[in-house]
Amino acid sequence: MVTYLLLAGLLVTLLPSTLATSLYSRDRQAFGLCYEEDCLSAHFSYNPYGCHGPSKWKLVTPCWHECGGKRQSPVNIKTEHTHYMPHSLLHFHNLCTRVPGKIRNNGHSPHFSTDARIISLTNVPLRGSDEYIFEEIHFHIGKREEKGSEHSIDGDFYPMEAHMVFYNDKYKDIGAAKSKRDGLVVIGVMAEINDDEDEENPQQTYFNRGYQPSKLDLNKACPCVGKSDDCYRKYCRCRLKNARIMSTLMEKYFYTVREYVPPKNNGTRDFVQLTEFISPVDVLPYDWSFYMYDGSLTTPPCYQTVRWIVMRCPIRISLEAFNMYKLVQDVHNVPLVTNGLRRPIQRQFMPVYRNFHWGNIGEETPYCPDEQ
Ligand SMILES: [Zn+2]
Repeated sequence: MVTYLLLAGLLVTLLPSTLATSLYSRDRQAFGLCYEEDCLSAHFSYNPYGCHGPSKWKLVTPCWHECGGKRQSPVNIKTEHTHYMPHSLLHFHNLCTRVPGKIRNNGHSPHFSTDARIISLTNVPLRGSDEYIFEEIHFHIGKREEKGSEHSIDGDFYPMEAHMVFYNDKYKDIGAAKSKRDGLVVIGVMAEINDDEDEENPQQTYFNRGYQPSKLDLNKACPCVGKSDDCYRKYCRCRLKNARIMSTLMEKYFYTVREYVPPKNNGTRDFVQLTEFISPVDVLPYDWSFYMYDGSLTTPPCYQTVRWIVMRCPIRISLEAFNMYKLVQDVHNVPLVTNGLRRPIQRQFMPVYRNFHWGNIGEETPYCPDEQ
């Protein structure tokens, strides 16, 4: 009897995993040549029809299973459903001390990075006193020019989105940090294209497209003073900062690294040392109000370890920098823009918070003198 019970118990325990294994094998067969047992040899692409495309990432190799998880990024931020969370400004350390940088085209994106562990971030929501080291800035663009950002806000996309990547200084480097629960903070900033040489134009940039400003006072920065939160949420926009320094870097270096160079035999990749210095301030907007949620890397292995900070206000990047980006090639020497460089919006299961009251928007944050 005891043996019988034991056997029955064993069967019950084994059944679900056997079923799971057979489903997984079936997926693998359907995948044919795209499946890789070895994570390090696996490839991904942004081609929605290919077997390495974003909807298939979770099946390409076993260690990318998190790409099918419930804390995946990017998401659409529905501003009406964001929860107010009192939180003071992010604290950047040495923000105005520029650090030596380099740029590399890894076949998926060109990215600026630094080895100098000098610029850091603290006061990250719900991450206690942990300190995060600035490591990298890269940008996402789309197949369609107007839809290049990964996140969207109330369903609206921007032509580009900048990502500043920070890793927890308790880990040796970003490689060690990225799979850890408290490993990463990524700040996302939406970017518009500055297609005329004029300076910021408050009249144009404060209002949503399609809104009829004649009904409200155009001389005011925001036409909602004394009105409802809903008015602020819908109609008060940001003063856009022209990200001049970053635009110049992109114009110059995206051309330099436009061709993908495969890694050398020892696995190292070529990079180009910048003659200029870099800082996250190059892509930070004037107003540091933000949305925040728990999410993931937006490329495989999609680790669900990212505290996302998505800035409410966008910046502007020059048209020339945007055009230069379109020339950058992927591993197959095809321009990245052919398939775009953005993961589609993921189903949202996690709450999104904001650190500002709608009525307080438009407050501006300290800046570095050479940014003005
Ligand atoms: Zn990114």
